Amino acid sequence: MIKSLEQLKRLLSNDIGIDLGTANTLVYLHGKGIVINEPSVVALNTKTGRVVAVGKDAKQMLGRTPGHIVAVRPLVDGVISDFEVTQEMITYLINKAQKENKKLIGPRVVVGVPSGITNVETRAVRDATKNAGASEVHIVEEPMAAAIGIRLPINEPLGSMIIDIGGGTTDIAVISLGGVVRAKNLRIAGDKLNNDIISYVRSEFKILIGEKTAEQIKINIGAILPSDAPLEASIKGRDLISGLPREVVITDSDIREAISQSIDTLIEGVKEVLETTPPEILSDVMHRGIYLTGGGALIQGLAEIIAEYTKIPVHIAPDPLTTVCRGTGIILENIDNFRDVLIANEDELPPKK
Ligand code: ADP
Ligand code: MG
Repeated sequence: MIKSLEQLKRLLSNDIGIDLGTANTLVYLHGKGIVINEPSVVALNTKTGRVVAVGKDAKQMLGRTPGHIVAVRPLVDGVISDFEVTQEMITYLINKAQKENKKLIGPRVVVGVPSGITNVETRAVRDATKNAGASEVHIVEEPMAAAIGIRLPINEPLGSMIIDIGGGTTDIAVISLGGVVRAKNLRIAGDKLNNDIISYVRSEFKILIGEKTAEQIKINIGAILPSDAPLEASIKGRDLISGLPREVVITDSDIREAISQSIDTLIEGVKEVLETTPPEILSDVMHRGIYLTGGGALIQGLAEIIAEYTKIPVHIAPDPLTTVCRGTGIILENIDNFRDVLIANEDELPPKK
């Protein structure tokens, strides 16, 4: 039974949740689940200013474009570095997500943004989404969306800790009663580890490898703790002296050395957040454990090492690459239960006296 006009409107529209990640963009369509999961890359025609391709297709073009086409990552470092491109990207995503089912009313859109985003950046995301055709825009901090995606009891007076390791940024946040109690945003995440590996291979083996190769070896043989059977991979790069291709064998212990400083900084960041967490909430976190999410949660041994240094159990979230997007989906399907966790829209606040 349709009880109200509001309900009828909702039935007629397709609400959308977006995880605007630095590495991957995911879109959740109400009633359907995740319908888009693609790299956050946009290819632009610089003559017309139009988007030529988004996601996988655009990523293929990185480094391979003719003069008038450029492929960019508009969200590198978690901030909207290019407002117009981001708006084009959101428009493209909204259209693609509802392609079979275009409705009269623009969708309500829930967007996840990194914690610690400035007011100016929040406004940029809000405006970009509104201009892209949304009827309502709701903004949530990504660690909050991740906690909701993991189905942690965020609205209760109970502390939860989330570490979300993405491509450009790591969000460390302590949440209680629907709010972020303590948070820290580090620029050390997946991309930095890839760059660590590139620098290490250059200085140790005197060859130059690309980002894709570095990411592959990180995923295939990266491990924070040594295991009984050492892991190996052979990689091809350009010899720095001869300029010709050369192949070398790299081991998990090389990767450990390459990324050790970044991992130390990450652990320091976690400790700093714990040190300033109020005692009652800290005691909840100690009992319930820390939740690790984002693609970086999948680095072998990372959960163990954080547990060792903090003396707190660490859980890896199930399907860590989709927690934020699933969280935005849960929010949009129960928006009235989650009003408090959204970032307030300054335009809608009563004017200050
Ligand atoms: P963002 O939210 O910033 O878009 P994601 O949560 O999608 O980031 O995570 C992307 C990062 O996770 C990339 O740096 C990628 O290399 C890394 N990643 C993905 N899978 C793995 C894996 N199995 N092991 C280590 N790192 C991984
Ligand atoms: Mg993310």
